[in-house]
Amino acid sequence: MAESIQAVKGTHPPLVAVKGMNDILPPDSARWDWFEDTVRALMRRYGYLGIRTPIVEPTPLFVRGLGQVTDIVEKEMYSFTDSLNGDALTLRPEGTAGVVRAAVEHSMLYDGGKRLYYIGPMFRHERPQRGRYRQFHQVGVEALGFAGPDVDAEVILMCRTLWRELGLTDVRLDLNCLGRSDERAAHRAALIAHFEAHRELLDAQAQARLHTNPLRILDTKNPGMQALVEAAPRLMDYLGEASLRHFDALRAVLDAAGQPYRVNHRLVRGMDYYGLTVFEWVTDRLGAQGTVCGGGRYDGLAELVGGKAAPGIGWGLGIERVLDLLAQGGVPTPLPRPDVYAVVPAPEALPVAMQVAEALRAAGIAVLMHAAGKDAWGSMKAQFKKADGSGARTALIFGAEELSRGLVALKPLRDAGAAQTTRAIADVAAWAHELRTA
Ligand code: ATP
Ligand code: MG
Repeated sequence: MAESIQAVKGTHPPLVAVKGMNDILPPDSARWDWFEDTVRALMRRYGYLGIRTPIVEPTPLFVRGLGQVTDIVEKEMYSFTDSLNGDALTLRPEGTAGVVRAAVEHSMLYDGGKRLYYIGPMFRHERPQRGRYRQFHQVGVEALGFAGPDVDAEVILMCRTLWRELGLTDVRLDLNCLGRSDERAAHRAALIAHFEAHRELLDAQAQARLHTNPLRILDTKNPGMQALVEAAPRLMDYLGEASLRHFDALRAVLDAAGQPYRVNHRLVRGMDYYGLTVFEWVTDRLGAQGTVCGGGRYDGLAELVGGKAAPGIGWGLGIERVLDLLAQGGVPTPLPRPDVYAVVPAPEALPVAMQVAEALRAAGIAVLMHAAGKDAWGSMKAQFKKADGSGARTALIFGAEELSRGLVALKPLRDAGAAQTTRAIADVAAWAHELRTA
C-alpha cells in the first residue's frame, strides 16, 4: 500500500490552483463569513433582496452591455466556446449585466422597481497582484426601475453604513455626473480634438481608443498622461439642465446626510453602460488598487440587453480589497469559537455524549466533540489540550463514574480556580443556557 502511494506521488506533479485564483481557508474564511453576515444584515435593513444569476453568461451580454472598447471586453474576459453547441460563453467579469438580463428575461419590473443584491465570484484575466486577482469576489447592489436621484443617494449611503459597521474609517467618496448620451456625444468631439492636438503624449492604447472610445482615455492609469487628462475638456460643462438637476439633487441629499465627497471630473468608470451618476469609494491604503467600490447609473442597459427601457443604479465592491483594508487597519474579526468542548474518555461514553451534544446544539450552544483517531481513542491529556486550543470556555467530561449516576462533569477552562461541578444529563435543556459564552 505504502509503495503504491509512493509510486503515485512520483508520477504525478502536484496540482495547484489556477494562477490568480485563491483558496480561502480557515481562519480567513471566518472573516469572509463575518463580512457576508454583516452585508446580509445591511441588505435586509435597506430592503434589498438577494438575486443569484449564473456564473456563465452568453458572451454578447458583456460585449454589448459593457461595450466593445473597454478593458474588460478587450482583454480581461474568460471566454470560451461551448464544445457541445458552439455557443460563445464567458465567465462573468461583473454582476450588473447578468442581473439586468435576468430582470428583463423574467419581466421582474412589471409591478414596479426592484432592489437587489448579490455576493459572488467574478473573473477577469488580469495580471495577478495584491488586490487584483483572476477570480475575485464582489458584493453588488442593483436598484432597477427607479429613475430618481433619491435612489442614487440611497445606494451610496448604504456603502457608508457598511463601512461604519465594518469599522472602516478611511474610504473617501468620489463622484461625477456623466450626463445623457447626447451630452456625452457633444463632449466627445471636444475630447477628441484635445487629444489630437497632443497626439505625441498619447500611449498606444489611448491612440487606439482616440476615435473609438475617447472617454476611456480619461480612465488611464499611465502616469505620463495624467497632466494631459487633467487638462481635458470636462463633461460637466456639456451637461444639460436635467442632468445637472439630477446631480444637484443627489448632492443635496449627501450634503444633508453629512457625507463628504469630491467631484472628480475624470471619474468615468470602466463600462460604457454608465450615465448620469457615477461614483467610487477609494482609499490611499491599498496602493494602486485603491478603489474599493464603484458604481453608477445605467439607464440604457436594459435596452442594450434587449428589454424595454428601464432605469437602474448599482455598485460593486471588491471583497478582497475590503478585507485587506480591514486587516491593515487592525480591525479584529470575531473568530467563531465553540462554547463547549466535549471530552469523551472512552468509547463506551460516546452514544450518551453525542446525545447530550445534540441536545445542546438544538438549544443554540456550539459544541465541538472529541473525535477519535484511527488507531487510538485519545488520552485525557490529549483531549484537554485540544479543548484548551479550541477556545471553548467549558469542557464537558463524560467520565464513566459520573455517567453511571446520570451525570456529566462541567469544567471551566478559562478560570483556573473554578471548581469542577456536575449536571444531570436528563435535565440538559435546563442548564444548556449556562454554557452560552458568545
Ligand atoms: P480597477 O480600476 O482597480 O481595475 P475596476 O474599475 O476594474 O477596478 P469595477 O469593475 O468597478 O473595478 O469593479 C468593482 C470593484 O471590484 C472594484 O472597485 C474592486 O474593488 C473590485 N475589483 C475589480 N477588479 C478586481 C480584481 N481583478 N481583483 C480584485 N478585485 C477587483
Ligand atoms: Mg479593472
